[in-house]
Amino acid sequence: MTIIGIDLGTTNSAVSVWKDGRSLLIPNALGDRLTPSVVGLDDNGDILVGRIARERLLTHPLLTTSAFKRHMGTPREIRLGDRRFRAEELSALVLRALKADAESYLGETVTEAVISVPAYFNDTQRKATRMAGELAGLKVERLLNEPTAAAIAYGLHQQKPETQFLVFDLGGGTFDVSILELFDGVMEVKAVAGDNYLGGEDFTDAIVDYYLSSFGLSVSSIERKTLAALREQAEAGKRDLTKHKPFKLSALIDGERKEREIGRERFEALVQPLVDRLRRPIERALLDASIDGDAIDEIVMVGGASRMPVVYGMLSRMFGRLPAAHIDPDETVAVGAGVQAGMKERSEELQDVVMTDVCPYTLGTEVAMAYATGEYESGHFSPIIDRNTFVPVSRVKRFSTVNEDQKKIVVKIYQGENRLAANNLLLGELEVEFPPETSGIRDIDIRYTYDINGILEVEVKTEGLDDVHRIVIEENPGVMSREEIERRLAKLSALKMHPREQERNRLLLARGDRLYEERLGDEREWIGLAMQRFEAALHRQDKREIDEEAERLEQFLNQFEGNRR
Ligand code: AMP
Repeated sequence: MTIIGIDLGTTNSAVSVWKDGRSLLIPNALGDRLTPSVVGLDDNGDILVGRIARERLLTHPLLTTSAFKRHMGTPREIRLGDRRFRAEELSALVLRALKADAESYLGETVTEAVISVPAYFNDTQRKATRMAGELAGLKVERLLNEPTAAAIAYGLHQQKPETQFLVFDLGGGTFDVSILELFDGVMEVKAVAGDNYLGGEDFTDAIVDYYLSSFGLSVSSIERKTLAALREQAEAGKRDLTKHKPFKLSALIDGERKEREIGRERFEALVQPLVDRLRRPIERALLDASIDGDAIDEIVMVGGASRMPVVYGMLSRMFGRLPAAHIDPDETVAVGAGVQAGMKERSEELQDVVMTDVCPYTLGTEVAMAYATGEYESGHFSPIIDRNTFVPVSRVKRFSTVNEDQKKIVVKIYQGENRLAANNLLLGELEVEFPPETSGIRDIDIRYTYDINGILEVEVKTEGLDDVHRIVIEENPGVMSREEIERRLAKLSALKMHPREQERNRLLLARGDRLYEERLGDEREWIGLAMQRFEAALHRQDKREIDEEAERLEQFLNQFEGNRR
């Protein structure tokens, strides 16, 4: 049975497979290796995923959504028309499209996948990703940390037997740093750190915010369509700046055309606070791995946003040398996920690559601290497994009850780094009652076992009693219950995916509609006429004519904006 590897990104996703001794990226129905992580509904209520949906972000902002990976594991619902979806469901729709692409390419049904997640995703976000797989009809064989995936892809090209590298992964919505060592065929993750709420999209937002505030406007004071158009210009402009070209933001607001030009210096000043935020996780990862910056042999850049010169410059200054530039930051994670899928299939060529990983956060429990006065203060966090410990890991720590006549304890399980339990993420709790006929101060052993997929099991044993209480942290705040999953599965199965065969033509129509809305005057009229001609051909249903007209329209649209992907 073939297992596929999936990079489920904030901005783009990709699917790969281990074939003929290498990890191969599978093209989608449009022939692209990257599928935008954008989901929409068309006018019939059918689901659109990928480039067509991305084109419609501007023309149909209420029926289209992007960057939902940021809300994974939160109960937040995102509206598409009169329907509401959780981020898991939207991700499931992207996964369903990738699954269909893989099935069409391989000519067989696919039911198993390795899916990559940011290393810094917490327990809830990881479970949400598994859930998305399940909602898409995929058994998630393994959740693979994105930087680990990148390191595998990169490590396979390495000739040296021993290398230490830092993977710098700045995607659309998340930022991860990992320090890894490749030694004698063993890939060891030494430390990970990151920020789940920092990514390329924040750099785009900074541009839009600057534009708005320079005219005394705010996000809520302008129309959604205008905001979508400004974001699109800022996104394209940010990419132009990477090639040292200044750009303009321009919109018609309250009947007046308002324009601002943004050059490299202005942009770099605007995003300086974001660049500063990138430094801390790097410093922390180096410290946790007990490695000096000088000992890093290679800096591997992953994620589209790592292409920005301002980021590149910061890293060069920090490490006194240039990051590796010969690998594609958009495809590396998917390539690595494909290698991992091959390992899961026990592919012969891969048997001698061994991998180890670490847990990204500290796991612990809430305790009361005793003061010299004999008083107690509750709410303190007591770590049991420190962050960046190798996984799988099992650690036990002894605690004791506070009162002689205490009849029960509640073990609260937290993830995080804060001294106070309440400032960390509550994963679950386990209540242990003592036999009523016994009393006294009791010793309690709490064991945490964390596996390679980031699933935590907690075991509580009271000294002198035979019972062992156990909980596998499956359902915590933000994670859906079994019944809810079943309900949502039924709802998603009822949604029709837009047919793959019509993708190219539908993309042209969506792109034409967007350009028509963007342009004015003569240009707008020409676009309208070209679209009419194409629609007439579609209407006549002659395949050869449709293909010819599609080619003609594509070239015509390319004249306006280049061959953009
Ligand atoms: P990912 O989630 O890895 O696909 O990363 C997507 C992010 O990278 C988005 O925020 C993009 O705006 C950003 N990005 C992609 N290409 C470039 C580029 N050439 N220059 C600047 N940012 C880019």
